[in-house]
Amino acid sequence: MEAAIFTLYRQLLEKVNETTDQLNAKHAQYLTCEKGCDHCCGHLMTFYPVEIGHMARAIAHMKPQRRKAIIDHLKDFAARKQDAPCPLLGDDGLCMAYEARPVLCRTHGLLLNIATEANGLEIKRSCQLNYTNKETSTFNREDTINQQLISTLLHRINEAFIQQTGMAPDERLSPLALPEMIEAGMKNL
Ligand code: SF4
Repeated sequence: MEAAIFTLYRQLLEKVNETTDQLNAKHAQYLTCEKGCDHCCGHLMTFYPVEIGHMARAIAHMKPQRRKAIIDHLKDFAARKQDAPCPLLGDDGLCMAYEARPVLCRTHGLLLNIATEANGLEIKRSCQLNYTNKETSTFNREDTINQQLISTLLHRINEAFIQQTGMAPDERLSPLALPEMIEAGMKNL
């Protein structure tokens, strides 16, 4: 059975998916995103431990052949000591664990509201390839991802996760941590 913390995290992912699906449909004319575009996967990024833990669990439950391909790919990447692109980007330009990707990977490409005040509106493009044909200031709050709200929720869920796992509060992990987490038995969480 899935640990309660991952159930909570999956609920957040579902809400994020709901919003991104709506905005992708509404803003199709401003977006250049398409399968095979890996512009947003160009760096070795770090994520909250709960996100990497959730990915470890998802990969641990994949069919053995797919799981092995991901782990081998990550170990090869680590051996080459590269810092780009994201180690989960496959040779075909697709994310090897797409269905379990972190929140940031789901919202990338869309407009973000980065205002820190609850009612503020400060719109930022998250990808230079998108929204090039319209001023961002002409969009409304409903056209944006509420970055502050997502960060707050993610931070709280992560706090509960690190309490369970004994990790440091400010710890961030890259996908290169996945093989060890999978081997440590993340499947059982
Ligand atoms: S986890 Fe997947 S979607 Fe996210 S940056 Fe890496 S390859 Fe891209």
